[in-house]
Amino acid sequence: MSSPTSKPGPCGRVLSRRHIDVILNGPQKPENIGGAARAIANMGLGSLVVVNPRTLNPELSLAMATAAGESVLANMRIHETLREAVEPYELVVATTARIGGRRGPLMSPRQIAPTLLIPNAPATALVFGPERMGLSTEDLRLCHKYVKIPTDNPKSSSLNLAQAVLILGYELLMAAGGETPPPPPVKPAAQKSLNDMYDDLETTLVKIGFLPADNPGHWLMNIKKIFNRSQLTVGECDLLRGICRQIRWAVNNMDRLE
Ligand code: SAH
Repeated sequence: MSSPTSKPGPCGRVLSRRHIDVILNGPQKPENIGGAARAIANMGLGSLVVVNPRTLNPELSLAMATAAGESVLANMRIHETLREAVEPYELVVATTARIGGRRGPLMSPRQIAPTLLIPNAPATALVFGPERMGLSTEDLRLCHKYVKIPTDNPKSSSLNLAQAVLILGYELLMAAGGETPPPPPVKPAAQKSLNDMYDDLETTLVKIGFLPADNPGHWLMNIKKIFNRSQLTVGECDLLRGICRQIRWAVNNMDRLE
């Protein structure tokens, strides 16, 4: 747990998510503990807290955590009850695959993520339930907010535990400004570069007999259509002119070609 600060990311400053810990309540499979550790590391969340795990098998967990999640796993805290585990947190968010109308408004990860990244955000826990049963009504009473990951249909609403952690982490990363910056827009060449290139192309294609000498402009139109779709840059016009130059040279110097 720490308060949110920002650090440079791919798109300028990315808000920290280190104040958001993950609590796995009653996980049954050590592999899922490892998978959750990996997801926490992938997405830059806080610590991993495990409540009353059915079995602890560090080897199996580590195999799923991989090197990325190793330190998350090494620093994992264990509690006996969820009530005890949530004690230090100011905001406790439950994740549930079930709809349960009485549990208050269900938000999607995308909806809740920005609300968890406000300045001076409270120490936050994301609580995940056991693989088979999910969080019980009693567990849910210990939580303040409820998140459901949308799925295609209600019959397959239940995700793998570690994958659910990953999706929450991913949405938090995106909301924090961690989106990969879009590629810079291509600067299209101005008409002078294009027309100079077309002149070269026309001369060259006439020279090699591809275009008729009497009205080459008419036939060149079909080739221009291809280029008009692709927003050529100045560099690309120069490249095509270089090809034309080489073709003209080659036609005049066939004996010097290998
Ligand atoms: N069969 C259980 C699902 C357990 S999956 C049920 O119906 O609730 C294990 C845990 O992964 C869940 O307790 C929850 O924390 C998380 N999870 C799985 N699918 C989810 C979803 N669609 N939305 C939110 N959390 C989900």
